[in-house]
Amino acid sequence: MKELKILYLYPDILELYGDFGNIQILKYRLEKRGIKAIIEQYSIGDNTPNFNNYDLVFAGGGADQEQGILADDLIKYKDNIKDAINNGVFFLLICGAYQLFGKYYKSADGNIVPGLEVFDYYTEAINDRKKRCIGNIIIETSLNGKTSKIIGFENHGGQTFNISNPFGKVLFGNGNKFGDTEEGYFQKNVIATYLHGPLLSKNPELTDYIIKHCLDRKYDEDITLEPLDDTFEELCRNQLLNKFLNNN
Ligand code: GLN
Repeated sequence: MKELKILYLYPDILELYGDFGNIQILKYRLEKRGIKAIIEQYSIGDNTPNFNNYDLVFAGGGADQEQGILADDLIKYKDNIKDAINNGVFFLLICGAYQLFGKYYKSADGNIVPGLEVFDYYTEAINDRKKRCIGNIIIETSLNGKTSKIIGFENHGGQTFNISNPFGKVLFGNGNKFGDTEEGYFQKNVIATYLHGPLLSKNPELTDYIIKHCLDRKYDEDITLEPLDDTFEELCRNQLLNKFLNNN
């Protein structure tokens, strides 16, 4: 039986926006195909993880204060994380976690939270806590050469700059900053995005892209995933795409 090992970072701290749902969707879509989902968690005080021991690392979003709490702990693993990314381990990072993998996050109060500096982007929140990018968001991206619409919900004060390769083009919503045309950061084995939702619950195609990427790397194969019945997911997606892109 094939399996995927997933490391879920700071589930007790980065839990404000329901991003745990992404872990549940990954588990569901793996197990529906008879693939074992081994999900381990890491938070402050736990044994030091070796990020190279996993196929996929996931971290969700959180408020400014929580980001400040875990930053000093996360930074201890900077070199191991960089090594794992260079070795092809997949990282799915949502919002607050996305921000912390850059150079720094400047919170609405002006506090500088040091980032891992894995990527060159940086984030600065507007110094008015009421000014936040909040709402439904739809972006267009290319997954293995196939154009796909990704649906989510954004809620961030942080405005992210110096993105070398965005995850997608904004069709509806804000993106990396107010009124931006770009959202997130993307490279072969990293998706860093502002999209909550949970992200994967609204985007089965994206989930399967991530699963296939991880399995292909782990088993050195070009695996064809057994299709799942996504009738309900597609009904919901069409409803949302019509509502936000066609004003229906
Ligand atoms: N605290 C960060 C911000 O406000 C991240 C928010 C989040 O994770 N949704 O931009």
